[in-house]
Amino acid sequence: MRVLLVGGGGREHALALGLAADPAVSAVVAAPGNPGIASVAELRAVSASDPAAVAALAVETAADLVVIGPEAPLVAGVADAVRAKGIAVFGPSAEAARLEGSKAFAKDVMTAANVPTARAYVCVDEASTARALDEFGAPYVVKDDGLAAGKGVVVTDDRSAALAHAAECGRVVVEEFLDGPEVSLFVVTDGEAALPLLPAQDFKRIGDGDTGPNTGGMGAYAPLPWAPPGLVDEVMRDVVHPTLAELRRRGAPFAGLLYVGLAMTAAGPRVIEFNARFGDPETQVVLALLETPLGGLLHAAATGTLAEHPPLRWRDGAAVTVVLAAQGYPAAPRTGDVITGADREGIIHAGTARRAGDGALVSAGGRVLCGTATGVDLAAARDAAYALVDGVGLAGSQHRTDIAAAAVDGRITIPG
Ligand code: AMP
Repeated sequence: MRVLLVGGGGREHALALGLAADPAVSAVVAAPGNPGIASVAELRAVSASDPAAVAALAVETAADLVVIGPEAPLVAGVADAVRAKGIAVFGPSAEAARLEGSKAFAKDVMTAANVPTARAYVCVDEASTARALDEFGAPYVVKDDGLAAGKGVVVTDDRSAALAHAAECGRVVVEEFLDGPEVSLFVVTDGEAALPLLPAQDFKRIGDGDTGPNTGGMGAYAPLPWAPPGLVDEVMRDVVHPTLAELRRRGAPFAGLLYVGLAMTAAGPRVIEFNARFGDPETQVVLALLETPLGGLLHAAATGTLAEHPPLRWRDGAAVTVVLAAQGYPAAPRTGDVITGADREGIIHAGTARRAGDGALVSAGGRVLCGTATGVDLAAARDAAYALVDGVGLAGSQHRTDIAAAAVDGRITIPG
């Protein structure tokens, strides 16, 4: 099987490693890829969100399967264009990807499917925003309605900051604050059959102790020693299957990766958001533990044969990933700095590039790379991930020092 992988971040590097390790996969082409992915795939330049360009590349490279990593190409209809060429694609249609592309659409689907989530209002002006903020009270949650790479959400006790964010965005979703630890659950689905992966937790804020602004994600770990035993079954029953059924009913079946972001509240798990693709950096830890060959799994989802796929197999132990971010991230990341010590197993490239001229590895994005490691338990995986990150040199870089720390220490509790 020949695979074309679309994207060029840390998630795609993790996907590329998983695909290349599958004996059924004969070649991986990545577009545009990154210098880390280049060690396991042929790189091709492409405008990843241009449906015609990606479809043409899939034909040219004789791909048997196209795997779309990021959300922007999905929302732009890249999966539809590839499917129209008769090529299997892992990733939902543009219509189904609205589950991520529009917070208002996602809320509408959840309401129709009776999925437990935060109460919310869609607001387009200051008066309606103010009314919604006052109904729910602090902490205030205001979400940009469109795609914002995980950075369109403001959670604050400051009412005027909440109003200012809403004014900047135009159309927003204002919702009640959900109190409790967060869980990311990835579900591989062909639109009807669905296989959950291991639950993971990511760290959205830039600073230790969940301080500072939201980012694309600063680290992750799996599995979750503190998660209630029946959690995955409950979420499949109450969230995933009703949502997939509602999308089928609307004529927009969702095939690909359904990412369920949950808060474990006193009243039970509540959906914070859906994404239409693998989460970054949770993918790095979940795939590090997946023993089942990745290419075959994604191909089954892409071809409507997931019901016949064998149960997933997982490695024992745990995985942790720690993101190394550029100076100034998330507001104004500095790029172009030389990176040293990145040529080691477990270093996943996210925002890196080869410098023209000398080919030196340099930073090229906000989240530059991640140190991903497994271990016999969470404590061992955490030590190994930090050892990887500590071995990397990047001027002015920042990383959180508390990834997975509370879980290792048994300090995570579900309210109520
Ligand atoms: P989202 O892009 O919707 O995942 O939001 C980004 C982050 O904001 C989430 O991972 C949460 O940490 C936080 N967040 C979003 N919605 C809520 C909510 N209703 N209550 C509490 N925190 C939230």
